[in-house]
Amino acid sequence: MISLAGGMPNSDLMDIEGLDAACRTWLSDSPAKSRYQYSLTEGEPSLRQMISDRFLSYDQGVDIDDVLITTGSQQGLELAFHVAVAPGEKVIVERPTYLAALQILDIAGIEMASAGGDEDGIALDEVEDLARSSKVGAVYVVPDFANPTGRVMALERRRALIELSEKYGFYIIEDNPYGKLRFSGQELPTIHQLARSMGSHNCIHVASFSKFISPGLRVGWVTAEPSLLRDMVIMKQSKDLHTSTMSQNIVSHYLASGRLEANLDKAMQGYRQRMHALADALNSELAGSISFTRPEGGMFLWGTLEQDVEASTLLQLALEEGVAFVPGAEFYPAEARYEGANQMRLSYSGITPEQAGPAVMRLKSALRKLG
Ligand code: PMP
Repeated sequence: MISLAGGMPNSDLMDIEGLDAACRTWLSDSPAKSRYQYSLTEGEPSLRQMISDRFLSYDQGVDIDDVLITTGSQQGLELAFHVAVAPGEKVIVERPTYLAALQILDIAGIEMASAGGDEDGIALDEVEDLARSSKVGAVYVVPDFANPTGRVMALERRRALIELSEKYGFYIIEDNPYGKLRFSGQELPTIHQLARSMGSHNCIHVASFSKFISPGLRVGWVTAEPSLLRDMVIMKQSKDLHTSTMSQNIVSHYLASGRLEANLDKAMQGYRQRMHALADALNSELAGSISFTRPEGGMFLWGTLEQDVEASTLLQLALEEGVAFVPGAEFYPAEARYEGANQMRLSYSGITPEQAGPAVMRLKSALRKLG
């Protein structure tokens, strides 16, 4: 089986040696008495300091009090939805969007509305219509290399979303686990960075070390205005007291080791190579059957079947041929699943470049069987 279904970082592109070394340094450097003790809910001060210095330095006034460490960005999202949305308010998501964000909203019983999107991101005319006609607490977006589409929200759209948030008084929850995974093109400022430069405090920025250091350590972070962050700390306290001290320290010692930049460059070469291998194979074997995007970063190609074929039907045949992917309908709210019927998410992060060709040949055989 060749899987284009997962969204995991490739273990071959992780700096396992560097992480092992960071772990050993922490074990030998940290005071034995505190090593296995409880710690602060907000997170380890050394890691929060590094995050504010390295990732939030665009914000002049930022310091460690503006950073909350979370157990992955998944927890950051859950906390953000809870504090940003008051009873009776809804959250607007883009169609399609990150499946597990929909699950958080569903389980929390938070009402959701959705807006369509295009190459430049969420459709703001639809957002504005919803904000005019109902109480919107937050708009949730994945602006950089979105899961599932791989799209990047355009700069002007980011600015206009911030302006709308000020006009209608909603928060923007910026979910940004993939921002560091750019392998070509020009980096854009995050929505949080833009919002701060425009004097807006409406953005809750949720980020993670999962995709560019290690997902298993479960370390992410959130930055937002102080009152929201305080509410999130109280809520996190009730969830897990704090994120694993050992995990946080492995991350901070790894960042301090100075190995991140070189390894990230290497990893980006690896992802770029895999993306092109998959896109080139699709182009030469399935042009006319599947149209697809060529992203500038992240882990996903977004494919659209040209024939009137359901991606879920194709998946059954593809599995028999030995290749897996995720049908697009999975990423839509229940009432809009039909919109994704002929779409598919193809992940290149987990394969080797050499597997791209065989994966596409298997897809081609599955499509042939459909006639
Ligand atoms: N947001 C998005 C868009 C994701 O794709 C993921 C991981 N699949 C997450 C959040 C959660 O990642 P983590 O909790 O590992 O940081």
